[in-house]
Amino acid sequence: MPRGHGKKRKRVRPTPAHQPEESGQPLASGQVVAESTSVSVPASSPSFVSSSPAINPAPPASTDVPKYYGDLSAILARMVVDPDFRMRIFVPPDQSFVFAYWPDIKDCLLARPDAFTPLSSPARPPFEIRAILGKGMGMVATEAIAPGALIVRERPLLAVPMTLPGFYMDMLSNTSYMPESIRTEYFSLTNCKPPELPHAIGILNTNSVALNIMPGQLDDYCGVFKSICRVNHSCSPNAHTRWDADTFAGELRAVRSIAAGEEITFPYTDILVPRHERQEFLLRRYKFTCKCPACSLPPAAQARNDQARTHIDTVVLPSLLSVSAQGTRSVRELLDLVALLQEADSGSPMIWRIVAKELAGTYCGLGMREEAVKWARKAMEMTIAHTGKDKGWAAVVEAPERTEVWRSKVGVRRGK
Ligand SMILES: [Zn+2]
Repeated sequence: MPRGHGKKRKRVRPTPAHQPEESGQPLASGQVVAESTSVSVPASSPSFVSSSPAINPAPPASTDVPKYYGDLSAILARMVVDPDFRMRIFVPPDQSFVFAYWPDIKDCLLARPDAFTPLSSPARPPFEIRAILGKGMGMVATEAIAPGALIVRERPLLAVPMTLPGFYMDMLSNTSYMPESIRTEYFSLTNCKPPELPHAIGILNTNSVALNIMPGQLDDYCGVFKSICRVNHSCSPNAHTRWDADTFAGELRAVRSIAAGEEITFPYTDILVPRHERQEFLLRRYKFTCKCPACSLPPAAQARNDQARTHIDTVVLPSLLSVSAQGTRSVRELLDLVALLQEADSGSPMIWRIVAKELAGTYCGLGMREEAVKWARKAMEMTIAHTGKDKGWAAVVEAPERTEVWRSKVGVRRGK
């Protein structure tokens, strides 16, 4: 989940009482917020002859539902003409979370079988929350965590619409609607906002991450989580957050191998912009100066790192997301992209997923099993980190020679 509002691929935390600082959808991740940037499988990527990797269906088009995201005047106008259009508050019987919502959304959610049922999470959490020198609290791995592995899955303590008129913010700032257990957890979180802002709203604006509650919703939502909101920022993160609309839960997954004792991090900002832009944003929004590995490089390496990020942002990513370019890149070009991604060290599972997918497909077509398995595994890990599911890649890792591309290309060459 990216944090709050964001312009394209910006992940920032929201200020729900106000217009968003940037317009548009945050990155999949990130986005959390479920995957706003879903990527279709390119023609050359492996798919099984007998059972193709299942691809999640596209969310239904929302053309019949006006969207009020970030448009406070549209929200207020709707309230004038529609007496039922009022923010409501829902607390489930087990009092595990508080959901403030516009009335369009709850029936959609309750129609889903898994919404609001108990969640599964790792039986023994692979982390602890503890003080980190110079950073306040943070999340630290207590055991080795593999790429793609689930670190925590949890419902938000509080989820609210992004665009709220001031009187609703006043209502939320008086937290009598919160069950006591939620209130205790909520008020233990950090507040970096000015003291003139009510404390509850300061916590919301400091900690909330963006949530795509449902396709077709009127407004976007943001949420505050007990564990996920303890995770500190890094511009070279080792974890990724996503929102799972099916279970109404946030997930934190590893995007690389994490060692026991290592701090777990994810980005609060767009990680593909240069260091000075990241630093400026983090200081303005969250009042800290980032000292992550990417921000601590010596000047020459820093310049290369910035250059790599900018090149990925402006040249590579548009090309990777272009359907016509998918499946057309040579092994050399793809391996150059891998080197660039390693140089940038920005940890984006969405980008790694596309590159690994293309490499796995290309090596399958060449009949090179070892390389095909290596990149299919990377594609699997990044697909799980990005979407929560392996989407058929585990089977490709097991038997790349059973993919359609291997059979059609390698089989034909061998006269089969
Ligand atoms: Zn940094």
